[in-house]
Amino acid sequence: MDNTQIWLKDWASAIGIALSDNQLEQFEAYYRLLIEWNEKMNLTGITERSAVYEKHFYDSLTVSTVADLSGSVSLADIGSGAGFPSIPLKIAFPRIRVTIVDSLAKRIRFLEEVVSSLGLADVTCLHGRAEDVARLPEHRDRHDVATARAVARLAGLNELCLPFVKPGGIFVAMKGSDIAEELDEGRFSIEKLNAAVHQTKRLELPNERSERHLIVMVKKGPTPKAYPRKAGIPLKTPLLRNAIRL
Ligand code: SAM
Repeated sequence: MDNTQIWLKDWASAIGIALSDNQLEQFEAYYRLLIEWNEKMNLTGITERSAVYEKHFYDSLTVSTVADLSGSVSLADIGSGAGFPSIPLKIAFPRIRVTIVDSLAKRIRFLEEVVSSLGLADVTCLHGRAEDVARLPEHRDRHDVATARAVARLAGLNELCLPFVKPGGIFVAMKGSDIAEELDEGRFSIEKLNAAVHQTKRLELPNERSERHLIVMVKKGPTPKAYPRKAGIPLKTPLLRNAIRL
């Protein structure tokens, strides 16, 4: 184990996650695949090893500070890209059942390779728009937890993600430093989608010290029939309190 792996082990431990040598090897295998495939396709702008460990791996693991992932909970990661946050969470919490949804086929192919190389069980990688997948009975109002990082502003993002969450479940939106305005703008869609803000948690990356926020929303009941609207509409015309209907 080298310093970067010890770094992840220590900081994961600081947020209550005990990583075994085998799990650390899985992180390293994931890192290698990410770098290898990144040469053929655009997966991440962050390639320096310690930065990947901090800004992708550690950052993803912080979701577990607001969601109990110790059991066999079902987690839907919307717009997962190269697998964040769901793949690090699956490595750290092997019992969770993961559904990954991304509209870019190449990224889904990469994730299928990660899942098979790392030997991860109970991970389904779906190529499609969240708006369409959320209409399928096996995903609508079904998941304990939904996550999304770096996909869209909250007002539009809520319509992509909250329909996946079952009543009583949560949506964790991973955000950067300034969330006040975005959260304010997102409140109308949270209400419309039958959810409520449960908490917002401020975090800092350990070395880099940049600020992160986790916005946790709880689903109060089933998704109203009208949502999500047709693919493309939620991000183009987000649900906003004062929006003019065109
Ligand atoms: N979550 C990853 C991360 O934090 O590194 C990836 C972020 S990447 C900037 C956004 C991803 O969302 C892309 O892979 C894109 O294909 C996907 N995406 C955007 N709109 C989507 C939609 N409507 N349904 C499914 N995936 C979508």
